[in-house]
Amino acid sequence: MILPVIAYGDPVLRKVGKDIDKDYPNLSKLIENMKETMYNANGVGLAAPQIGKDIRLFLIDASPFSENEELDEEERAFLKDFNKVFINARIVEEEGEDWGFSEGCLSIPNINEEVMRQETIHVTYVDENFLPQKATLSGLAARVFQHEYDHIEGVLFTDKLSTLKKRLLKKKLENISKGKVDVDYRMRFPKLKR
Ligand SMILES: [Zn+2]
Repeated sequence: MILPVIAYGDPVLRKVGKDIDKDYPNLSKLIENMKETMYNANGVGLAAPQIGKDIRLFLIDASPFSENEELDEEERAFLKDFNKVFINARIVEEEGEDWGFSEGCLSIPNINEEVMRQETIHVTYVDENFLPQKATLSGLAARVFQHEYDHIEGVLFTDKLSTLKKRLLKKKLENISKGKVDVDYRMRFPKLKR
């Protein structure tokens, strides 16, 4: 089932997500619905707060980036298979140079801005079977993880922009929260007047 994506301005996007355990109700169905929702909106990631749940769960399928010919072959091969569910994730350490990349977000349609993030991250999480996992990610894989991880910490990519950029985007963001945006997937807008 395709779920409505929660738009910018909803308080659920500002909550720090709670850890879950394997008794979380209907978890496999929730994951299945989130996947369907992500693919329907052509997203490369979706975090639980974006469908209204303040829990530490997100999905990534970075395979569309594997077609980017500007990346080297090794990174493209990694991204092709970077399709995972992350539960109770923690970024243990970030390292390397900051680099910029134009990001977007399913909760903030039609806005793309360059965000600076560190190159490499060391992470822990449990997978769909609640088996503990560790990973070191770099480049675009790290970036998508950092973006989704921010969601379960109540942070959005627009928070990371300069004061000037934020001021320039203020009206657009306000309009998104009111539903005044052209979008071709289901959304829920916090300030929509009926
Ligand atoms: Zn996002």
